[in-house]
Amino acid sequence: MILIDGKKIAAELREELKLEVSELKNKYNKVPGLTVILIGDMAPSQIYVRNKEKSANEVGLKSEVIKYPDTVEEKTILEKIEELNNDESISGILVQLPLPKHIDKQKVIETIIPSKDVDGFHPMNVGNLSSGYESSVPCTPLGCYLMIKKIEPNLSGKKAVVVGRSNLNGKPMTQLLLKENCTVTITHSRTKDLKAECLEADIIVAAVGIPELVKGDWVKKDAIVIDVGINKTENGLVGDVAFDEVSKNAKALTPVPGGVGPMTIACLLKNTIDCFKRAQI
Ligand code: NAP
Repeated sequence: MILIDGKKIAAELREELKLEVSELKNKYNKVPGLTVILIGDMAPSQIYVRNKEKSANEVGLKSEVIKYPDTVEEKTILEKIEELNNDESISGILVQLPLPKHIDKQKVIETIIPSKDVDGFHPMNVGNLSSGYESSVPCTPLGCYLMIKKIEPNLSGKKAVVVGRSNLNGKPMTQLLLKENCTVTITHSRTKDLKAECLEADIIVAAVGIPELVKGDWVKKDAIVIDVGINKTENGLVGDVAFDEVSKNAKALTPVPGGVGPMTIACLLKNTIDCFKRAQI
């Protein structure tokens, strides 16, 4: 079984991006800039944002974190986004989720100009992705896609099952696999027989949030299995896939931690660079 080492693949991607940033700097005499807006002091968000900043600096991006207390007014955030939309030195804007209850998440997402939407959450980017046009793609499914392609460069005709239909993971993952000519089944909490669906799959992507939902006898021999789940349990962090059981059948499997997680941040950097490149044309 191939253990898909997300840490290693993400490190390789960061190396490639670092080179690309230095080439862009030579060509345009400027580097892509990423601005992250962080509201409140929730520990996980603080850690994510710190890691994003560290990785951005590592590849040579200009990066900035703007912090607000969780009492900040929605209007202040929207005005700041407008200011960043109009700032030519900023290629990508990300507002770290979740937001305090009094701030309308959708309004925030839709205020970010689509060309700087490095999370790929703006309806324009969602629409472009589903129409098969160029767009920013949400970072986690993009990371999953790049890992799948490392194992199997030609996905045409493969049967893929995506477990979970969130806007963040399941839906964009489905679009990416469809674009690669997979036959995709998207499943969710009302799916009648999830085991039977999974048993058909050459590729399974599980993004649910239920510890070890996907069992060993749900997975066809030689399937590629990508585990997006991050679940805190008494036994530490576990994914949505029962790792020990599934590793006996699968051709390739991502571990948790050390699989999808590291790729998410690397893909944020990739999206920032791609936004910069599109803006130069
Ligand atoms: P979410 O928004 O809660 O969506 C979960 C999806 O799973 C929903 O579509 C839901 O179906 C479906 N589901 C729930 N119970 C199910 C069941 N028994 N069988 C089949 N499907 C079921 O979750 P998310 O934001 O996509 O996150 C999923 C997991 O990924 C979480 O553990 C999260 O922490 C993790 N995550 C990891 C990363 C990373 O970087 N590695 C990034 C983001 C998220 P319905 O639509 O019918 O309710």
